[in-house]
Amino acid sequence: MQNTDPQELLKFETLASRWWDPNSEFAPLHAINPLRLGYIDSRASLAGARVLDVGCGGGILSESLAAKGAKVVGIDAGLAPINVARLHAVASNVDIDYRHTTVESLLGAEEGSFDVICCLEMLEHVPDPASAVEACSKLVRPGGSVFFSTINRNLKAFMFAIVGAEYVLSLLPRGTHDYKKFIRPSELDAWARPASLSLSGMTGMHYNPLTQRYLLGDGVDVNYICHYLRSPAS
Ligand code: SAH
Repeated sequence: MQNTDPQELLKFETLASRWWDPNSEFAPLHAINPLRLGYIDSRASLAGARVLDVGCGGGILSESLAAKGAKVVGIDAGLAPINVARLHAVASNVDIDYRHTTVESLLGAEEGSFDVICCLEMLEHVPDPASAVEACSKLVRPGGSVFFSTINRNLKAFMFAIVGAEYVLSLLPRGTHDYKKFIRPSELDAWARPASLSLSGMTGMHYNPLTQRYLLGDGVDVNYICHYLRSPAS
């Protein structure tokens, strides 16, 4: 499969059976999901929208988008995560079109066919994130929204996202993230702009270890989420 890293996919394949356990390695995704869903919902209208969830994993975000009335297509390059997502959707009685594939593979048949695209916590796991950004841009309709979230690359991000989250607090398994693959907002923007995506908003996602709570707010030096708009057809 194009633009995939087998080592990265293996990390998620191995853990996939625990995806929906809120006390598992995926606890942080469960904890941040209401926040990021709220951000997306406040900036794009989801009811009735055709939404693509890129790198959907076990489907935490996909199911919450569907609960808002979106018609969701969820894609993931990992087979175990997509199978977990399919089973969970059946158990939740929710209709989601899950596909075991990559965003690049949808080019051609699905171009311009989505109102909203979400690509959360995935770009830092792929070999060529610029290619994924460009594919998202081609798949969304002119005027549509694309959301990306990832982790910034600087000393604070290293201390919080790797040393803190993986080694001190054990929120994530060691080796989940590779510092070199973190992405500065300026780098993301340098891939997005030539792909006809313009930045509409950006917010940080912060973890307070004392209260053990996450919140959205200013400061994008560790985790952040960006909202881009696809320029109207020229
Ligand atoms: N977006 C989900 C899951 C994030 S975990 C969420 O935020 O809740 C990262 C996911 O990206 C994993 O499920 C992994 O299998 C998937 N992934 C990694 N590389 C990929 C690629 N090139 N194409 C699609 N999915 C990919």
